[in-house]
Amino acid sequence: MTVKTRFAPSPTGYLHVGGARTALYSWLFAKSQGGEFVLRIEDTDLERNSQEAVDAILEGMQWLGLEWNEGPYFQTQRFDRYNEMVDKLLAEDKAYKCYASKELLDEVRAEQEANKEMPRYDADHPKIKAVNEAAKEGDPCVIRFRNPKSGSVVFDDQIRGRIEISNSQMDDLIIRRTDGSPTYNFCVVVDDWDMGITHVIRGEDHINNTPRQINIYKALGAPVPTFAHCAMILGDDGAKLSKRHGAVSVMQYRDMGYLPVALNNYLVRLGWSHGDQEIFSQEEMINLFSLNAISKSASAFNTDKLLWLNNHYIKTSEPEYVAEHLQWHLDQKGINKDNGPAITEVIKLVGERCNTLVELADQIAYFYQDFDAFDADAAKKHLRGVAKEPLELALAKAEALTEWTTENLHQVIADVCAELEIGMGKIGMPLRVAVTGGGQSPSVDAVMQLIGKERVVARIKMALAFIAEREANAQ
Ligand code: GLU
Repeated sequence: MTVKTRFAPSPTGYLHVGGARTALYSWLFAKSQGGEFVLRIEDTDLERNSQEAVDAILEGMQWLGLEWNEGPYFQTQRFDRYNEMVDKLLAEDKAYKCYASKELLDEVRAEQEANKEMPRYDADHPKIKAVNEAAKEGDPCVIRFRNPKSGSVVFDDQIRGRIEISNSQMDDLIIRRTDGSPTYNFCVVVDDWDMGITHVIRGEDHINNTPRQINIYKALGAPVPTFAHCAMILGDDGAKLSKRHGAVSVMQYRDMGYLPVALNNYLVRLGWSHGDQEIFSQEEMINLFSLNAISKSASAFNTDKLLWLNNHYIKTSEPEYVAEHLQWHLDQKGINKDNGPAITEVIKLVGERCNTLVELADQIAYFYQDFDAFDADAAKKHLRGVAKEPLELALAKAEALTEWTTENLHQVIADVCAELEIGMGKIGMPLRVAVTGGGQSPSVDAVMQLIGKERVVARIKMALAFIAEREANAQ
């Protein structure tokens, strides 16, 4: 049997990290079993759903690289099929029409509460029975599923173990509303059956739906899939992760400069483990993933760890991969990577210093954009009168270079130190500020090499002009 899993979001907003983790687990499980992964959009709640939300979910899934083999299916396009199945259950007397009004149901409920009974729909309640018997064909009604009265539903949750719920705790669920629309619990079952889903991996907020759904599978004569319910994700204060803890949308993580590999690695570990290994390549995740190693207890989101992973992946990924994801940030900042050295070379030099792609984009602007002012603090400290002579000498030596290599530039700096009998800092820092505009960068010889001769020469001259002006003003 081919394993088939699905991710079935309701398009009410962006793809949040909890949903993304569920999607990742479903995707990984399918991949680990050589199976298939289906994307289904559960868009039956017309009031709360929107096209923007559908687009946001697809964008998030694509960004994470969670490719689906089938879909996206849309529930709103499958109403005929759901109704066909409702009619089948009606014809088999596994479902029935209920004509009780909302007022009557409220009245029965109040009665049950007054008698300290569990409030529930009761088809045998005399008042409900009377209404249903008196009703005429064509009167407004809902269709209810005839839930078994006795026995219990037992299933072996792959994460939480054996779960047993007595049928006496479940009432006859509405499967089609008065307006003719099928309800959520019914659509999910028909979909998972039709789509051949073998493993339903979803959040534990759905665990109460599972026994009801299992009864519907059985009534339809459909095979019951295997279930796995994942625990919640919490914020650092122990409350369910929500907006007030910071970013919860996957695309916000893109905006904040995370690589999808880092977020996937972070999310897989948030509730799943393999010994104490923290770093997993995609291939390792697929090979090692298993449902029963998912934790039963909730996991807390930890931004520091995510940052650490992001730095790891910026440092160790192929520079082409980093470049692909850096591009969006360059566009945001108006940095044109064609206006300077090969971006992959710049990433190799600067990447390891950065925890996010936002930092990386900020730190590499000077390779591609000229600036008309130096960072005020750095200039105040390093572009002073004492730097004039070393900078002039470095300029002359750099201009005279026929081969613009890191080694030769290293030699230029060493020669300036030797000739003027000064320490490395006395030329290194002024040069750094001159060519990058600020006080922080990787090794200045390598930086100058990548920036290129023309720009380096122009920038040192600009720094010398700055010093001259400063000295003039001081007099
Ligand atoms: N549409 C449901 C949700 O977004 C998921 C249903 C399911 O996975 O069975 O919570």
